[in-house]
Amino acid sequence: MSVESLFPRLEALLPKVQKPIQYVGGELNSTVKDWDDASVRWALMYPDAYEVGLPNQGVAILYEILNELPDTLAERTYSVWPDLEALMRAEGVPQFTVDGHRPVRAFDVLGVSFSTELGYTNMLTALDLAGIPLAAVDRGDDDPIVLAGGHAAFNPEPIADFLDAAVLGDGEQIAIAISEVVREWKSEGSPGGRDELLMRLAESGGVYVPKFYDVEYHPDGRIKRVAPNRPNVPWRVHKHTVMDLDEWPYPKKPLVPLAETVHERFSVEIFRGCTRGCRFCQAGMITRPVRERSITTIGAMVENGIRESGFNEVGLLSLSSADHSEIGAVAKGLADRYEGTNTSLSLPSTRVDAFNIDLANEFSRNGRRSGLTFAPEGGSERMRKVINKMVTEEDLIRTVTTAYSQGWRQVKLYFMCGLPTERDEDVMGIADLAKKVIKAGREATGSRDIRCTVSIGGFVPKPHTPFQWAAQADHETVDRRLRALRESLRGDREYGKAIGYRYHDGKPSIVEGLLSRGDRRVGAVIRAVWEDGGRFDGWSEHFSYERWMAAAEKTGVGVDWYTTREREENEVLPWDHLDAGLDREWLWQDWKDAVNETEVEDCRWTPCYDCGVCPTMGTEIQIGPTGKKLLPLTVV
Ligand code: SF4
Repeated sequence: MSVESLFPRLEALLPKVQKPIQYVGGELNSTVKDWDDASVRWALMYPDAYEVGLPNQGVAILYEILNELPDTLAERTYSVWPDLEALMRAEGVPQFTVDGHRPVRAFDVLGVSFSTELGYTNMLTALDLAGIPLAAVDRGDDDPIVLAGGHAAFNPEPIADFLDAAVLGDGEQIAIAISEVVREWKSEGSPGGRDELLMRLAESGGVYVPKFYDVEYHPDGRIKRVAPNRPNVPWRVHKHTVMDLDEWPYPKKPLVPLAETVHERFSVEIFRGCTRGCRFCQAGMITRPVRERSITTIGAMVENGIRESGFNEVGLLSLSSADHSEIGAVAKGLADRYEGTNTSLSLPSTRVDAFNIDLANEFSRNGRRSGLTFAPEGGSERMRKVINKMVTEEDLIRTVTTAYSQGWRQVKLYFMCGLPTERDEDVMGIADLAKKVIKAGREATGSRDIRCTVSIGGFVPKPHTPFQWAAQADHETVDRRLRALRESLRGDREYGKAIGYRYHDGKPSIVEGLLSRGDRRVGAVIRAVWEDGGRFDGWSEHFSYERWMAAAEKTGVGVDWYTTREREENEVLPWDHLDAGLDREWLWQDWKDAVNETEVEDCRWTPCYDCGVCPTMGTEIQIGPTGKKLLPLTVV
């Protein structure tokens, strides 16, 4: 059955809203396939505004891969701003895709990619605007399967009531597999309705269907157990891992935004995974093992992406880009190739060593030496041992001195506040470090024209990390430490003016903490916040701590219990039935090592310390060098 475009009705509303261009679609490399020719139809959502959602790599890759399948179509949908939401409600215009402007409810699958938990209320807005019941149990056969992915889906329990399904890990192969299951079920005449479709997905072992699992609780509120409530549903659901990135060189046709977005460049992911073992870093833990893209594929992707998109900036992405085993050759090869052109290269690496500066020098050949970012993360030597960030003060001073003496004038240092075992003096150590950085820079250059910006984020303990058992610092403590740090920096006559200071208050971290380590009972809070008008919680101008606390109180959910409470080893955690590949005993040991200020090495270069990932995947970490060159080179 054909579906009509909503655009004529939407178009009438656009003159009345801000940035209407974000809703019109038609970007270079976007795709609108014939509705009737497809047997499986996906709406892919990034639950934030277009300007944040369009550059998202996960959505862009799936969009392309699904549209390459002959019988499948995929379109994109983003969160609409409150001004358009109000008009859509008044005029009865439902949530639409920006490609074909088709109603989201008409699709078979609504895939929502969550980079952060603060997008949960935006998903509820989209469901409600689409006319899809918020609670999965209220949905009928005409509603799409609502499927979550992205890093936050590694603990989807707080949104379990709103989801039909979730997938963990890399999406490329599982998206195709899900399409196949849906196609087959539809071709058979949709036997057994959505329940059977969900059952088929759950039985495959690669898709988590929350309603097929019951959660039992102890009288004190802790989880007693999570168990399947149907036969053939696995006890644990495993993450997906694409083992050969060269086989998946996406995006091949990068989307070029019409409206302003947060990144306007072509991004190539040069590897996935990280083995540095930073204990606070969920991304590093859940994306193991390391899988490198080869130098030849990187070169070909860059060349192709620029040709297909016209972007004049290329970013080489990963969790720690300077760690690619052939990054030196990649940097030199690309810098040689694009020298003298208007193509600029960027490497968002924060590694604290001189090699990183060599790379930055290569990448800045076509640009200015403006700013470099380093991430020591912890302010004191002790704190950096706890979080396993193996950077000494000497390393940092030596690295920034090299940067300043090679012409870089601006250094940004990234830290966290509220880390486990943190004391006041660990945070005050940030001020000492920043002052030493300026002092060393002035001595190295003989100039007072040296700046350093200290940027501080609030730490949130995350599932599937060694800190998943840790007590989160309360926001009063975080704010008090950050105020004292600000006073120390501002009050310094010698260095204060050379040091910039950026920080956020601790309250949003508490809400993020509630959502990160929450269980199914937290869903009531999310719904209450949304009903009270909660939207765009990742935006400080929209976020309301008071609204979240009022909703928690109304629904009887103790925020402290979920955030500032330390967990025991044997407590069943809400995500224990979801397998990120990490061995629980290893995680616990690493947590104990953290408390004892004991570091572990990067297993990429040193012997395996049995985190469990490689045996679970039946693989080994995949790194070069391949010995190949960045060829073939074409004259640009
Ligand atoms: S199993 Fe061993 S080699 Fe593989 S990621 Fe874990 S520690 Fe590293």
